Amino acid sequence: MTRLTAPFLDDPALKQVLAALSAEGAQALIVGGAVRNALLGEPVADVDISTSAPPAEAIRLAEAAGLRTVPTGIEHGTVTVIADGRGFEVTSFRRDVETFGRRAVVAYSNRIEDDAHRRDFTMNALYATGSGEVLDPVGGLPDLAARRLRFVGDPRARIAEDYLRILRFFRLLAWYGREAELHALAACRELREGLTGISRERIGHEIRKLLDAPDPSRAVALMAEAGVLPLVLPGADAGDLPELVEIEQEFGTGALPRWPRRLALLAPRDAAGALRLSREEARVQDHIAAALALPAPAAAYRLGRAAAAQSVLIRAARGDRPAFGWCHELARGAEAKFPLTARDLMPELSGPALGEALRRAEDAFVASDFTLPREALLRIALQQEARA
Ligand code: ATP
Ligand code: MG
Repeated sequence: MTRLTAPFLDDPALKQVLAALSAEGAQALIVGGAVRNALLGEPVADVDISTSAPPAEAIRLAEAAGLRTVPTGIEHGTVTVIADGRGFEVTSFRRDVETFGRRAVVAYSNRIEDDAHRRDFTMNALYATGSGEVLDPVGGLPDLAARRLRFVGDPRARIAEDYLRILRFFRLLAWYGREAELHALAACRELREGLTGISRERIGHEIRKLLDAPDPSRAVALMAEAGVLPLVLPGADAGDLPELVEIEQEFGTGALPRWPRRLALLAPRDAAGALRLSREEARVQDHIAAALALPAPAAAYRLGRAAAAQSVLIRAARGDRPAFGWCHELARGAEAKFPLTARDLMPELSGPALGEALRRAEDAFVASDFTLPREALLRIALQQEARA
């Protein structure tokens, strides 16, 4: 029998929830990513719970133990149980009855086997009791040990139930896989058009996570080969991704987030639309793209140090290695202060002419590598305007 050791098993709040749900004989188990990651020795973000008690019963059991519940996803059998101020997602064992693309009609079940069979991959269908005993209804343990990403059941049938699973396949492959099963890959290729019916929000969620993997380059190359990449990110070019990952390791990336840099390298035609990026995320993409066209200090001055640093890494991946001391150069650009304000040019100038003059002076300031003093800049602003 496989046993799990993980700090979360000692979490009193989790123990409280499991005890409440199993007080009258129902099964209450930890499931999915938490079990998978704990077995791999990877960090665990959140602990999901699966129970043989149907939702109404789970709510009754939790409340009988004095725990508050919130029906966060009650239509698909999920309630959030609050213990010690933290929420645990509790999903009742389910069995897929009928599926029309994404919309699965589900029935509750008291059999763990049913619940395991509606999950996507064998390594995601592992369960653990509160004392760490691992339950493996579909043979996920050997797959996990070999880092083999295998669909539960026939890949074609499982993809046809929910085309998002194509992207989950590549995402989990990037994070936890070593081997890609050939017939699973073939199924992804064959059924890829189904992704056009999946919402861009869900696609965006998976792609962000995929590109956040330590090294997503092989998974992304396989996606390109399978014809999946151009469907979700039209115009994306994954050619330099392995070089980018190497450069990241060589240079170090500090606190810079991963996926925005990888996405900017892929340079799809309309990332913001394709992935439903937030306004802020889209702005970051625009800034990195603009920074790619400027010398590093100017990029840091105009677009911020982070966007400039991301662009330096991308350019290095494309073979344009930065000069020694580039970090210092970025800091210099980011900290440079343009010494003029609109007030300095008033009342001589006003309206659009004022804006234009300021812009010219600032361009000259940046072109001088931030060295032109105030007087020279004033002269440029006023002279140029007089000539115009
Ligand atoms: P992480 O949260 O670390 O990204 P996870 O495995 O917990 O990974 P979630 O998206 O949180 O992933 O899903 C939790 C579990 O629900 C999965 O482990 C899997 O068992 C199941 N699951 C999620 N999405 C699907 C899906 N589209 N089809 C089938 N099962 C799914
Ligand atoms: Mg999860």
